[in-house]
Amino acid sequence: MTMTTTTSQGSVAPADEGAFRRRAQDFLAANAQRKAERGQDSAPRSLEPESAAEIEESKRFQAALMDAGLGFITWPREAGGQGLTGRHLEIFNEEAAAYELPIGIYQIGHGMCAPTILEFGTPEQRATHLPDLLRGSRIWCQLYSEPGAGSDVASLQTRAVRDGDEYVVNGQKVWTSGAHYSDFGILIARTDPEAPKHRGISMFIVDMRTAGIEFRPLRQITGEANFNEVFFTDARIPAANLLGTENDGWRLAVALLMNERVAIGAAGEGPSHGGSAPLIRLARATGQIDDPVVRQGLADVYTRETIMRFIGLRIRAAQKAGRAPGPEGSLAKLAGAVLARRSSDLAIRIAGAAGQAWDSEEAAGSRWSMSVLSAPAHAIAGGTNEIQRGIIGERVLGLPKEPAVDRDLPFKDLRVGTER
Ligand SMILES: Cc1cc2nc3c(=O)[nH]c(=O)nc-3n(C[C@H](O)[C@H](O)[C@H](O)COP(=O)(O)OP(=O)(O)OC[C@H]3O[C@@H](n4cnc5c(N)ncnc54)[C@H](O)[C@@H]3O)c2cc1C
Repeated sequence: MTMTTTTSQGSVAPADEGAFRRRAQDFLAANAQRKAERGQDSAPRSLEPESAAEIEESKRFQAALMDAGLGFITWPREAGGQGLTGRHLEIFNEEAAAYELPIGIYQIGHGMCAPTILEFGTPEQRATHLPDLLRGSRIWCQLYSEPGAGSDVASLQTRAVRDGDEYVVNGQKVWTSGAHYSDFGILIARTDPEAPKHRGISMFIVDMRTAGIEFRPLRQITGEANFNEVFFTDARIPAANLLGTENDGWRLAVALLMNERVAIGAAGEGPSHGGSAPLIRLARATGQIDDPVVRQGLADVYTRETIMRFIGLRIRAAQKAGRAPGPEGSLAKLAGAVLARRSSDLAIRIAGAAGQAWDSEEAAGSRWSMSVLSAPAHAIAGGTNEIQRGIIGERVLGLPKEPAVDRDLPFKDLRVGTER
């Protein structure tokens, strides 16, 4: 099969499209489980952090995906990707929609860290980290949020002080997804407290097994424990792990956040329970498929997920054309969070009492209640809905910027976050 029939607009010649689709179908049939086989409509979700066996399954799958030429489909070949079009990616996603792909642990590494290293890393950093990162043999996390710095992450207080060929890091991060199983992380820390808050931050690659890094898992309202507090106590990071230049980390941090919103919003997934298809099955199974209010809700969810898919296509086409992700990432992220809320509300309406209390062996109810309990996370992770609306207001609608009286003052003179 030749992949040379693509055009710069990202369209795919029909013959190539068919061959690529068959390759994806063959790979998925041989390597992934269909959602229906796993009984996805009723599968209870594990409440414990990912087990070693689940992580191994993810690593096996990602390595096979790369070997089959189906990983990082739109990434340039010289960076380890396949150099194909957004249409190829969409074909793969269409086929993959019916399968349970064990790649959730790579959302941060692949969606955020890899593009950041590709864009800002030195040739040595790229050569050291990208191959293992893309292949999935190393898992990455994102160390941004702190107890006093979430939406206003530029108020972060974690310090990194240069000492010869190393930086010494002290401080605390929070909500660090997957820190408990990650090999590396991307950290932002303050390197110049004399500078205004956005201008004294640097970004680092951190080996999570460095002495002086400890983590403590946090349990969520769902009962799961997916994220952590991470403590840095005199942790020493090689200066060679600085990404970009010292004190220029905010620019890189914003670029990573843009990629994060794209990764979350444009993945085409939306709600954690899989969108309208399982809701339609639930409505049929409970005899409510002809109820006009239920039908209206299903049409709303279907319409929103279709719009999200189009936003995702637009973003990927722009990326393929070499444009950095812009505020459309915020549109996609916000659309996904609203869709998650609408569809989980509808799910619980259709499931009725069965979505709130169920026999221990009958897991269908737990699924719908989990989707309701996890919906608020979509509206917070990667920047809250209010923050996305602010970005859209300023950068898409051209509304005046929020006043920021602390923007030009030295950080050391501010009372921020936990100091207030
Ligand atoms: C599932 C999940 C996974 C996460 N994973 C990670 C991770 O891996 N790494 C990481 O670093 N962080 C992670 N986070 C943290 C996440 O980025 C922050 O929770 C988020 O940015 C909000 O910050 P905060 O919790 O401090 O809330 P705050 O910033 O304190 O916000 C509180 C409320 O005030 C509102 N608000 C704040 N500022 C404004 C404003 N300017 N205008 C209007 N309203 C405003 C917010 O919308 C919110 O409703 C994760 C969060 C979740 C839920």
